[in-house]
Amino acid sequence: MDAATDSAAGAEEVPPLPVRMLNEYTYCPRLGYLMWVQGEFMDSADTVDGRFQHRRVDQEKKRRISRRAPVDDGPVTIHARSVSLASDRLGLVAKIDLVEGECNRVTPVDYKRGKRPHIPKGAWEPEMVQLCAQGLILRDNGFECGEGVLYFAASRERVPVVFDGALIARTLELVDLMRKAAREGVVPPPLVDSPKCPRCALVSICLPDEVTFLQSQAHEPRPLFPSRDDALPFYVQHQGARVRKDGDVLKIMERDELLAEGRLREISQLVLFGGVQVSTGVIQELCKRGIPMTYLSGGGWFYGVTHGMSHKNVELRRHQYRTATDASRSLVLARRFVQAKIANCRTLLRRNASTVPEDVLDDLKGDMRRAGEAPTMETLLGVEGNSAQRYFSWFSSMLANGMGFAFEHRNRRPPKDPVNALLSLAYAMLAREWTTTLLAVGFDPYLGFYHQPRYGRPALALDLMEEFRPLIGDSAVITAINNEEIRRRDFIETLGAVALTPVGRSRFIEVYERRMSQEITHPVFGYTISYRRVLEVQARLLGRHLAGEIPEYPSFTTR
Ligand code: SF4
Repeated sequence: MDAATDSAAGAEEVPPLPVRMLNEYTYCPRLGYLMWVQGEFMDSADTVDGRFQHRRVDQEKKRRISRRAPVDDGPVTIHARSVSLASDRLGLVAKIDLVEGECNRVTPVDYKRGKRPHIPKGAWEPEMVQLCAQGLILRDNGFECGEGVLYFAASRERVPVVFDGALIARTLELVDLMRKAAREGVVPPPLVDSPKCPRCALVSICLPDEVTFLQSQAHEPRPLFPSRDDALPFYVQHQGARVRKDGDVLKIMERDELLAEGRLREISQLVLFGGVQVSTGVIQELCKRGIPMTYLSGGGWFYGVTHGMSHKNVELRRHQYRTATDASRSLVLARRFVQAKIANCRTLLRRNASTVPEDVLDDLKGDMRRAGEAPTMETLLGVEGNSAQRYFSWFSSMLANGMGFAFEHRNRRPPKDPVNALLSLAYAMLAREWTTTLLAVGFDPYLGFYHQPRYGRPALALDLMEEFRPLIGDSAVITAINNEEIRRRDFIETLGAVALTPVGRSRFIEVYERRMSQEITHPVFGYTISYRRVLEVQARLLGRHLAGEIPEYPSFTTR
């Protein structure tokens, strides 16, 4: 049995492998796996430019390979662009940029952005393997094919690649390895301290240095991805407003008057408060672009979310479901969420309340220990309840005197005083933030490990937001009051329920968003990162933990 026959083994179990993915796998096995098996994708300057180059090829007339006999009875010539072909025997599919040749002898031509690399073989291995796989598919379709051509668009150079025995063997070996990895469902480990990672489109999904660091503490993580996002949430609060699309711009209208507008590529999510109308065109465009649309009541209660097709990473959801049905693994995670929340509450008090007695801080430390040792979920809930009472009984000492804001204890549904109204809004915004982050990463936000499933409740979002309640929610409330960005006149009281006025809400959203965009030094990895990015990194690290890549979920605590 030769190598090519071996490669056919398992062809029924795993769907056909696109040769484009073989290129990624050759560059880095983890990259190929993340893209093909887990359906991860993220645009980079390289991918956008590469797509543009291929689109130019595609725009020229597409055709199946057809043989043309010239009128003078010369040899039959072949020149076909954007040709889709498959080999059932090898379990491979390809879209070949150009096939050219005469009679039955053909050459696949693959277009590459950039210039030809000046290296001994004239091209890098991933491109040669991809091209060779195209050649093998052509052979399996009855053509003679001994070499291919890489066309480098930036330098307009053609580099011939001979399909010799060594290249064919290597190509078939990689096909086998990639199919085996997909069958076994084990993500290959990240490259260690590799120069390939900074150029990799999936670096912020893969987290190579972070995963390696959490596995072995070796190699301090490099800051490999942008510390903050360019796109931000776009809020629409004006009751009766309509959202419509005009080209690449969202426009907020009231009748014919333009109230606000935002470019789609600068919007990370559309947040609608209360009665706002949205056109079908906007919904379709947002779904297509993967921009979620979230709904809050006029008072800020988080209702739900509309998003495009679910993330393709089924593996991640499988790990999530498996862990959620395992009581002891769920308890381990729940302990970490609660422990980290108490730790961050204690830090916030220590930093902002000079009058808080040392024994209160010691008691909170004791709560952390008790949370870490809780034998059951019920015990853990009890510990969390006690520590919350302790923390909120000193919350008012973090508010500047003379602002007219009193706080005695936490109350909600409805909040009965301004501070509780602010806290409720902050937590609703955080739950919304976590829900969309989890959806974007590929989790099911409704199935948690600590919070139990209840209709419409994003339990996993509530789990993960625990440690961020003090860091983002409470901190934004304290800042808004102490900096006088929110005043007593920004609230209205109806039948004992207190809510923010529309102006007050806008002001608080500004403070909250500022906090989300604030850049901090990551307590574990040491690089600068915004809170908004921290949420995504935490969600991805939870995924890495559930998949067994890192031993523990690394909770986020500040000092
Ligand atoms: S970031 Fe590095 S390890 Fe991760 S997929 Fe990309 S190249 Fe591979």
